Amino acid sequence: MSIGLLARASQSQKNGKRLSPILSALSRSFSQSQSQSTLPSFGIAFDIDGVVLRGETPIGGSPQALRRLYHHDGDSGALKIPYIFLTNGGGFRESKRALELSELLGVHISPSQVVQGHSPFKQLVDRFENELVVAVGKGEPAAVMSEYGYKNVISIDDYTSCFENIDPLLPYKKWTTKQVSYQNSTSKERDLRNNIHSQRVRAVFIVSDSVDWSRDIQGAFPAERLGLGAFRIALESVFNKIHPHALGYTTYGKPNPFVFNNAETLLKQLVQSCHHNVNIANHANAGNRHLKTLYMIGDNPSVDIYGARQAGHPWFSILTRTGVFKGKDNHPEFPADLVVDTVEEAVDYILRKECTS
Ligand SMILES: [Mg+2]
Repeated sequence: MSIGLLARASQSQKNGKRLSPILSALSRSFSQSQSQSTLPSFGIAFDIDGVVLRGETPIGGSPQALRRLYHHDGDSGALKIPYIFLTNGGGFRESKRALELSELLGVHISPSQVVQGHSPFKQLVDRFENELVVAVGKGEPAAVMSEYGYKNVISIDDYTSCFENIDPLLPYKKWTTKQVSYQNSTSKERDLRNNIHSQRVRAVFIVSDSVDWSRDIQGAFPAERLGLGAFRIALESVFNKIHPHALGYTTYGKPNPFVFNNAETLLKQLVQSCHHNVNIANHANAGNRHLKTLYMIGDNPSVDIYGARQAGHPWFSILTRTGVFKGKDNHPEFPADLVVDTVEEAVDYILRKECTS
């Protein structure tokens, strides 16, 4: 698994505080044409890997399943059922990931429907906005943080390139990393690098899996990946061995209940987007609307299912057999409320239950 990890950060700041502008943009981009008089009283959070995609391939009938969550009045792509993707993966901006998912799955997905392992870092921007922070991980970790509003962020590749001999193992490494091109860098980026030696790094954000070590420590590709969980243990072990004080850290990502509470807030706000033109007077409190059921559809019992169960009411967990879990019966240690073969079956179950009652 890959979860967002902020080394030495303390408690996150007021949950959900920065979400409103994104969601209000979303509400503009969604339906202009609903005519239903009832608002949905449920929302859905989809895990991505092993549920809707394997690599870049849709699985489990995911495109058909997702299409059922939209209105079919022409090509408006208007959302009918509030849903989000809730993944511990990451490394790319939510805006970019939303575009990719839209193309792969054939439906319009907004950036605010994509919650990645590092998405909660948005909420720490007030604290580190102008501080020097380093972004670690595969993909475009610095671009991710810049999009969140961090103004003084540098990727670990760029940062290490500013220091000679920072990596004692470099001479032994057979691979070559892409040389950073400074020709197209902005004056701000050049200033950052020129002044790097006189600035103190205030935080290191592990945005996604660290590229340089993880392959070797995990072996080829075992059934269950360890990713940042293993990296955190390694970091903590080493740090605590060589420092008098223990490493302070906060982890984000499923199965942390924080993630599910945040997902609930997002889904409640999405209700408004689903029925933009509905008589607002009747639905003045749509944004604070109580959703009586929230479905978590996942393939990993100890992450998706355990997380949803820990979060409790109104979460209902559905375990698919297309990813980590392949069992015939329910998982013995982290049983789901429902076990199905595919995500399509899961959505079918939800829609039958919710839309015919
Ligand atoms: Mg998964």
